[in-house]
Amino acid sequence: MYIGVDIGTSSVKAVAIDNQGNIHAIKQIAYKIFSPKPDYQEQNPNEIFEATIQVIKQAMAEVGEVSIVAFSAAMHSLMAVDEKHKPLTNLITWADNRAKQIADNLRNTTLGKQIYQHTGTAIHAMSPLCKLLWFRENQPQLIEKAHKFIGIKEYIFARLFDEYVIDYSLASATGLFDIFSLDWFEESLALIGISEDKLSKPVDTVSIFQIKESKKLDYQEFVGIKFVIGASDGCLANLGTGAVQEGEVAATIGTSGAIRMTTYQPFVDEQMRTFCYYTTDNQYIIGGAINNGGIIVQWLREAFFPNEKLGNVFLLADSVPAGAEGLIFLPYLLGERAPIWDSSARGVFFGIGKNHTQAHFYRAVLEGVMYALYSVGKVFGEYKLQSSPLIPHQENETSNSIYASGGFTKSSFWVQMMADIFNQKIIVPNSSESTAIGACLLAMKGLGDISNWDEAKKLIPKEKEFLPNQEKHLAYMKNFGVYEKLYSTLKPLFHQIY
Ligand code: ADP
Repeated sequence: MYIGVDIGTSSVKAVAIDNQGNIHAIKQIAYKIFSPKPDYQEQNPNEIFEATIQVIKQAMAEVGEVSIVAFSAAMHSLMAVDEKHKPLTNLITWADNRAKQIADNLRNTTLGKQIYQHTGTAIHAMSPLCKLLWFRENQPQLIEKAHKFIGIKEYIFARLFDEYVIDYSLASATGLFDIFSLDWFEESLALIGISEDKLSKPVDTVSIFQIKESKKLDYQEFVGIKFVIGASDGCLANLGTGAVQEGEVAATIGTSGAIRMTTYQPFVDEQMRTFCYYTTDNQYIIGGAINNGGIIVQWLREAFFPNEKLGNVFLLADSVPAGAEGLIFLPYLLGERAPIWDSSARGVFFGIGKNHTQAHFYRAVLEGVMYALYSVGKVFGEYKLQSSPLIPHQENETSNSIYASGGFTKSSFWVQMMADIFNQKIIVPNSSESTAIGACLLAMKGLGDISNWDEAKKLIPKEKEFLPNQEKHLAYMKNFGVYEKLYSTLKPLFHQIY
């Protein structure tokens, strides 16, 4: 039996599966996010550590014999520790925006571009690079005092195995790691003014760790288990939904959203629109994350119709035609990451007519979130056109479909909208635990329990497929043309005010 552990932003999950991909247990423990100041998003690393240990023990207790535990974790987190693994700061999450100004100043400089070209990570407040630059400016004494700067998975591994190690996948999302040479990027470190010994040792994603003699008393239940370090949640979501071959795409809409294409060569964009993160064995994902995913639908309901059930939002939206009769919504309430990287962008309803009802507004919001994701996904088409030698076309390339995951898949209506807007078949896997399953598949491949990714794919049962409707696609594309122009026209105005 394998356990995949998914250390997320709001909770940790442990999912036990057998070697046929059948799920035997799902355990979950939630933890808190603190926002002590505007723009700050912090967590207690000890709370996450305890929750992770508990959730693994709970899953083990339910299924009995477990031989392998593999890890996924949210990207971009950062904390400082002393020699005894004692936290000197809280864990600063990906959503923390305190380094916003630092990122904006660095992004378009020659050095900023060079860092992106080597690290594949956008110059953004989320990245450990910008967080460390913030510490350098605001708490320089911490830079000297800290033994290491690490993310949450490194913290858990340090406490369990007494080693500071980071997998290549999470390292490739720090802005500090060269995705071509798979080592720390000297220029990033020099900019912050730290040396490699302040960071963990980068290791491959299938590296195995075991409880040492000195820790046996503390972790008796874990003795003999192989702990596979695993990768980041973005990379493992692709593996766990089945987007495993060159050019295959997976999309997630949960609280935020992301679209990622699997590729077998590192790739960085001339215009810095997309990330490139390492998964395993020369496998990478390229793509982009959007801030304004499902959270925007929650906002709409809570702000305007607090007594309405979420399901009714979808029902009502379905009662008006695709394109919401010309009502267009820019969903940038939280500023936006890919592809526009604009923290000053804001939400807009455009083209309101007297004919527009509550249903039109619902529909326009759902469409707007999907256009935001589409504006990232359409970049993949451009890459393929420029492609060879960077993204070689393959005979069996199956990029006409997208593997979908996240809370939005609970609404067939919203998933169908994705099929129509992207003009592609959408495949929804049977389980919503794609990331933890991806961690198990990575471990299976690493340990030789499966020999290739097609075998992994067979272990992921599909639930449903949604086919695109051409007529609706054309209606959506008419609005999408306006959507894109609207943002570029309004951009200077956003920057005047926000
Ligand atoms: P997280 O990113 O925190 O893991 P989820 O994947 O659970 O989040 O997705 C949460 C989002 O899913 C919500 O913001 C909401 O927009 C969407 N959602 C929740 N319930 C439904 C539903 N019944 N139908 C469609 N979308 C839903």
